[in-house]
Amino acid sequence: MDTLTYFINLAYVASAALFIFGLKLLGHPDSARKGNFVSAIGMFIAVVVTLMDQQIINFHWIVIGVVVGGAIGAWKAKTVEMTAMPEMVSLFNGFGGMASLLVGWATISGMTEEQLLAADGGLFVATFLTIMIGAVTFSGSFIAWGKLSGKMNSKAIIFDGLRLVSLGHLIALTILVVLFTLQPDVGIWLYLTIIVALSFGILATISIGGADMPVVIALLNSYSGVAAAAAGIAIDNTILVVTGLLVGASGLILTNIMCKAMNRSLLNVLLSGFAKPPEMGEKIEGEVKIMSSSDAFYVLEAAQSVLVVPGYGMAVAQAQHAVRELQDLLEENNCAVEYAIHAVAGRMPGHMNVLLAEADVPYEQLFEMDDVNPRMENYDVAIVIGANDVVNPAAKEMKGSPIYGMPVIEVYRAKTVFVLKRSANAGFAGVDNPLFFKENTRMVLGDAKDTLNNIIRDFSTD
Ligand code: NDP
Repeated sequence: MDTLTYFINLAYVASAALFIFGLKLLGHPDSARKGNFVSAIGMFIAVVVTLMDQQIINFHWIVIGVVVGGAIGAWKAKTVEMTAMPEMVSLFNGFGGMASLLVGWATISGMTEEQLLAADGGLFVATFLTIMIGAVTFSGSFIAWGKLSGKMNSKAIIFDGLRLVSLGHLIALTILVVLFTLQPDVGIWLYLTIIVALSFGILATISIGGADMPVVIALLNSYSGVAAAAAGIAIDNTILVVTGLLVGASGLILTNIMCKAMNRSLLNVLLSGFAKPPEMGEKIEGEVKIMSSSDAFYVLEAAQSVLVVPGYGMAVAQAQHAVRELQDLLEENNCAVEYAIHAVAGRMPGHMNVLLAEADVPYEQLFEMDDVNPRMENYDVAIVIGANDVVNPAAKEMKGSPIYGMPVIEVYRAKTVFVLKRSANAGFAGVDNPLFFKENTRMVLGDAKDTLNNIIRDFSTD
């Protein structure tokens, strides 16, 4: 082994170790920033060393790529709104898929006819998988981006014949893998693979409804890793295989967590577009009781235990600092404050944890749904801040509801429930919420941050 190869292999081991160490640090909010930084250094080493190893392009292009790509990344990271982070993560997944697709494509197009005919069949299977999974990830992630950003309706788009068309795509891809592997020099199989896979990614994602999107996003994240690992095999690059598998495996673990949080099996989510659309069945009846923020203050002033349940609306209102301020005032008033975090609250895994950590809410005060549900009756007040689907009792009470069976934070069993949102409109899943009509629920309407600030002002002037 010459010195350069020795150095390159050593650098690959170092960057793989940095990725794994980075992942470990990402496991806790206190060390998450450090984890991100450590992983970024690992990625930088991997990129530079790979380009040196493969002698793909000259150093001018490497430097230009690092500067331009780094500048765009830094600018986006600085300017992106916290509420737009989930969409950005979706775009990252999509670009990851596209990068793998291009690597697969370049691998084939860079080979002469003789090289193609002499190459091993395994290489073509790996290249086919790279291109196919990359294309599915790319188009699927763009649909997910559309649904998350509100540019598309989040509801499942289902049409007659969807089952047949999807099955047709799967059969076509199975035939294409054989044709592509046997005749890699025939360009048409490559182009057809790209077109069919892109179209399959769209079909598979549009047919999945709002409430199931967390599972899809985690799965697309995993696909982007699998596509990268396949690309690593295709171009014989160890670090790409390692990184791809790390992303693929962590994406799968996340998918499993999301499935559990929604009490669904992965197959059930993926095939949801093929099931009979649910009928809403019962109509919600009753009257919504509205309360002013000053009346809410009087109730909170007398409360001894409060449960805060944040949701996507807290992110929109950027109300996390106001929540923390209210927590301090309640605690000064001898009231115990706890937070309940649903795994799919917000628009990305860990969304609420990140926001609350930003506002310095102690991690020990955050509880999972299964911890708080059994003691729900003990809370004097449950304050729902911009959450909707994750506290929707229809998941337990209304058999026809699209979210029926999903475990929710059962705030309706608390002594009193305050719902801080702007209207009685539905959440991401587009499902009406009977919580708003419950006897013990009071809606405190308005922007969550404004409402919280009004309550804080009343506490301070009291
Ligand atoms: P929801 O989307 O169900 O509800 C959020 C609520 O916030 C809305 O009903 C809205 O009501 C309210 N809101 C919006 N802006 C404000 C504001 N400025 N002030 C006060 N309230 C506001 O959120 P949940 O967190 O309860 O549930 C998450 C949903 O997102 C689930 O359906 C989940 O499946 C889905 N999802 C989650 C992902 C994840 O990884 N966590 C990924 C993709 C989807 P109003 O307009 O009346 O104010």
